[in-house]
Amino acid sequence: MPKKAITKIMKEDTRIFDVAIVGCGPRGLSALESLFRQAAKNEVLPKVLVVEKSPYPGAGPVYDLDQADSNWLNVSRRAVGINNREKTVFENFSIPDFPDFQEWSGYNAEPHSLTEVDEFPLRSELGKYLHERYNSIAGILHSQGLLVYINGEADIIRIDEQSVVISILGGQSCLAREAALCIGHQPIELDGQMTMWLKRVQELDNCELYTQPYPVSRITNTSTGLSNYTIAIRGFGLAMIDVVRALTIDLDGKFEITDDKKRTMKYHASGKEPRSIIPFSLDGLPMAPKPLNKEIDLLYIPSKDQLEDYGNAIFRRIEKAEARSTDFLIDAIAPIIADKFIAMDSMSIEHTLSRAEIEEIVSQWLRNDTFSHELLIPIDMGALEAINRFIAMATGSGAVSLDYCIGHVWRHCQPTMYRILSFAPLPDDLICKIVALDERLKRYSYGPPVDSLQQLSELADCGILDLSLVNNPEIELAEVGWTFELEGKTDNADIMINSVLDSPQLLKVQSPIIKGILMNEAVAPIHDKLGARTEENGLMISKNSENVVPVAMMGRLAKGTLIGVDAIAECFGTRSVHWAKGVIDRKIQRDSTQV
Ligand SMILES: Cc1cc2nc3c(=O)[nH]c(=O)nc-3n(C[C@H](O)[C@H](O)[C@H](O)COP(=O)(O)OP(=O)(O)OC[C@H]3O[C@@H](n4cnc5c(N)ncnc54)[C@H](O)[C@@H]3O)c2cc1C
Repeated sequence: MPKKAITKIMKEDTRIFDVAIVGCGPRGLSALESLFRQAAKNEVLPKVLVVEKSPYPGAGPVYDLDQADSNWLNVSRRAVGINNREKTVFENFSIPDFPDFQEWSGYNAEPHSLTEVDEFPLRSELGKYLHERYNSIAGILHSQGLLVYINGEADIIRIDEQSVVISILGGQSCLAREAALCIGHQPIELDGQMTMWLKRVQELDNCELYTQPYPVSRITNTSTGLSNYTIAIRGFGLAMIDVVRALTIDLDGKFEITDDKKRTMKYHASGKEPRSIIPFSLDGLPMAPKPLNKEIDLLYIPSKDQLEDYGNAIFRRIEKAEARSTDFLIDAIAPIIADKFIAMDSMSIEHTLSRAEIEEIVSQWLRNDTFSHELLIPIDMGALEAINRFIAMATGSGAVSLDYCIGHVWRHCQPTMYRILSFAPLPDDLICKIVALDERLKRYSYGPPVDSLQQLSELADCGILDLSLVNNPEIELAEVGWTFELEGKTDNADIMINSVLDSPQLLKVQSPIIKGILMNEAVAPIHDKLGARTEENGLMISKNSENVVPVAMMGRLAKGTLIGVDAIAECFGTRSVHWAKGVIDRKIQRDSTQV
């Protein structure tokens, strides 16, 4: 799309747009598509303003096209669940259809055997898809005078009587009847530990602290090189894996696959890697990989009937107001997990337990993360051993533990659970507990590809990755950098990288756009750990009056959508359809009163 031609319209634009979409990553794109699908159904033509601060609308920073190849998607190519866009026809023009990701990338499920190793795309590749998809709708809308795109950061949103004023950093303001905030990940206040470290690092010139892991190229593009340094990584999840890959592959190291079935790796060092990499977290628990291929994944996929029973069970408990603790979710899933585990037969850890006994262990473990049993990987097992055990389960070469089975059945039940729980009339405290339970299980359900964990395992064997300090070490600020101590083992790090991503706590968000709306529009979360309270159509509800504010909050900062926001497929779900229906209904009403 000719970006210049579009940005040119910016200055002193006095038109009032029907709606402003602020933030156009995947969710903003989905909102735009839903809006015009709904518009065509109702034969109206809304005028839209799109404000996006990154260079690639549709993709945003998570799927930035220019990011390093060491940043991988945690969803396999066959499983990326973004539906195609159907052609939308208006009287004088049409918005073309756009294929789903698989078709776009030339992947055809047919010739692939069940045992073929799942391939995980680069995040930049998905970004290319999303950005092309955005251009294919925005180009035509712009040519029809229905869309104005501003490549800038919205910093203040103010609500006047008849309109919403959106101020862009740099001075420009635009007016819209309403707005949708699709702003995704927002920076939150640094916690005490990070604040202290930042202060200290500012005083010293012999150590470095990265408060964010991305873009990873900031870390690897140094003039002096990293080979004389020890680097600590705060966090032991997906972003840590991206960083470790950047510190090896992006510094010219190479992984060679030595056994395709188990995906074992040999690392060929370049000599540019850091002296040592020390990841650490509060519990030292590693992520568990996704099953290697579809055949192994099938062990965890509930049947259609099981999924239906699961959904009905959850729905009934909510409807009868019986959902008072997370037990209503646990009770619904435990029988399915027990069935799946028993059906694994000799592939699981050996046992002589009945279905009912397995169900009981599943329930106990889901209620209490310290519950232990011989069918579960112990939480005090060393990280490297646990990684290797999980790899064996994922590749069909080692006995499957019950926790691995729980995590992956949970993953297949997530879309059903997310659909039913969004906007369900549940108490806020309970939503908090559900989010916490789902977060706990992300160690399995949002797990990386087997290759990622094989890379960690190989780097640990080579002595580049030190996992001996991973489980909640004592950390002191030293003369130079940080000193680590755990069970008699000590080490020093010169560089610290924080890979813990910001949590979606509205009250802690630092960006002016959110701070402003909290202050000016009396919008507030009803719980300090939740996002903004919204209606099902996304519009925020003000704190005192229960008035609806003409600004929708979509994605991870909205209370009603907090469950299941962090998967790409969820961005293209029904939530943007609900929002779009509301926008079009309000436009029709406005237009009719103006006639
Ligand atoms: C590092 C990382 C890796 C991830 N990896 C995966 C993965 O592998 N698989 C997966 O399913 N999910 C992954 N996710 C989850 C991810 O959040 C979703 O897949 C998806 O990106 C959410 O889309 P979104 O549009 O809601 O938010 P975002 O993608 O965050 O997009 C928000 C957009 O709003 C823009 N914006 C923000 N503030 C403003 C402002 N004030 N003015 C203008 N524009 C603004 C941003 O530039 C951005 O483009 C990952 C998330 C992160 C942070």
